[in-house]
Amino acid sequence: MVNSSKVYTVLLVEDDGPTRERLATAVNKHDQLQVPWQFATLKEGLNQLEKTPPDVVLTDLGLPDGHGIELIRRARQLSEAIEIMVISVFGDERNVVSAIEAGATGYLLKDGPADYIGESIIDMLKGSSPISASIARHILKSFRHDAPHLPEEKETKQPEKPPPADIPKLTKRETDVLEYITRGFTFNEVAGILNLSPHTVTSHIKHIYRKLEVKSRSEAVFEAVQLGLVDIRTDK
Ligand code: CA
Repeated sequence: MVNSSKVYTVLLVEDDGPTRERLATAVNKHDQLQVPWQFATLKEGLNQLEKTPPDVVLTDLGLPDGHGIELIRRARQLSEAIEIMVISVFGDERNVVSAIEAGATGYLLKDGPADYIGESIIDMLKGSSPISASIARHILKSFRHDAPHLPEEKETKQPEKPPPADIPKLTKRETDVLEYITRGFTFNEVAGILNLSPHTVTSHIKHIYRKLEVKSRSEAVFEAVQLGLVDIRTDK
C-alpha cells in the first residue's frame, strides 16, 4: 500500500505552538513524509482540507474554535483514502470512541515521545491502526465494566444495549485474526504470524466484516473492542 518512492503529505492541526513545532519537525524528519500545511485552528484546517486533500491528517482534539472530531469527520467524508491520526491529551473512552467513529485510523497520546510519530504514520499508511497502549487498555476495561451479564443489570433493563444474542459468533481463527488486526498488525503480518496464506487471511477478514456488519478495519476494531471480542492487553 505504501509506495516507497512517494512522499506523503501531512496536514497538521495543533493549537499549542511548541507542540506543533515538535510534531512538524519529527514528521518532516521522515524521508517519506512532509508537512506542507500546519495550522492552530479548526477553521484553517477545514479550509485547507477543501483546497488540497492531504494523504494524512494529524490533528489535536481540543482546538480553540472547535473540536478536532469535526476535522476528522470532514476528512473522512472527502475521502476514504485519507489516513487520520489523532494526537491528544485526552485518553478517555468518549473522546477515543468518538474519534474512531468519526473515521480516525490512529490515536496517540501526547505523553509519548514525538520521535516515533513518523514511523507511526507510515505504519498507518501501511494499514495498521496505531493506538497508545494505555488507551486500548482503558477502553477495554470500561467496556468490561458495561458487560451486560450482571444480575442487577437484568432487572434494570437498558434498551439501548444489544442483547447478548446479538454478539456475533466468531470462530477461533477469526478471533485470532481480529485480535492481531486490533493490535495494529497489517494483514500480511497477520498471515506471517499465524502461518496462513494472505488469501486465507483475506477470506477470514471478509467473514469478520460480514459478521460484525462493518466495512473497514477501523470499524472492525471499534466493534471488536466494544463487544469485548478481543483481548488487547499489551503485556502478553
Ligand atoms: Ca489543544
